[in-house]
Amino acid sequence: MEGPEQVVGSDEQFLRDIKQIFSQGVPPSPYSSVDILKLSGAEWVRLLASEFIVSSLVGWCQTCERTLWTYEIQCAQCGTAPVILDDMFWERVGRKIKAALRHDHQLLSVVKAEREDLYRDGRAPVFPPQLDWLRAMWTKALRPASRPFNLRRHYELANSLHDLAGLGLSEDKVLDLLSVSTIPDGKFRLNEKGLFSKLPGQFLRTIRDLLLNHFGTKRLHKEELWRTKQWVNRQRLTPLARLRGERPRLSPLATEG
Ligand SMILES: [Zn+2]
Repeated sequence: MEGPEQVVGSDEQFLRDIKQIFSQGVPPSPYSSVDILKLSGAEWVRLLASEFIVSSLVGWCQTCERTLWTYEIQCAQCGTAPVILDDMFWERVGRKIKAALRHDHQLLSVVKAEREDLYRDGRAPVFPPQLDWLRAMWTKALRPASRPFNLRRHYELANSLHDLAGLGLSEDKVLDLLSVSTIPDGKFRLNEKGLFSKLPGQFLRTIRDLLLNHFGTKRLHKEELWRTKQWVNRQRLTPLARLRGERPRLSPLATEG
């Protein structure tokens, strides 16, 4: 059991961490170390459409490979002149984006639909003023004919599995739970094999019904859970995986046979 002392301790640690972040002048951003000089046009579109607030970004130090959030003539860390995000910079980015949009006519529609579905928010992202033309195109872009990839479903499924594991329900147990038609109140034994979990039947039933109502049964199988977890982990840990628009992959098990 966690005592109140530990709770206070972790709060203090949290405050120290936050203070340290602000004293460095670096807002916590998953994209802080993404080399913006190497991004392709399509990756730029996804970065601009992300939760990343591009208007707060003013430069990039190639030596330290870090983004600058305040104007610096010389990088405060290494002393070299940083790349400043001026009109010329955005013109180059704009050319890359135009080429990407010519290459993939659906790009803007797909990225826009994915953003709207993920954040459940129809507002356009804040584009730099130099890319006003892109903002106009974004506004006009229609939803793609085919249903867009549902990022939100994968995040929600991974979060649910994480929470259920905290309640002592492994993935296998979750899958077992979905396959059972009746769950009586009280202690629940699956196939008379022993206690299913420490949770009472009425609680397990609620969990099962919530999962089925929210995710449906069709694609809730071991392979799907594996793909979702791998994909969500990679999206969270690797900013470039998000900017590349990576999709869940088949598990090594599924590709063997
Ligand atoms: Zn530097």
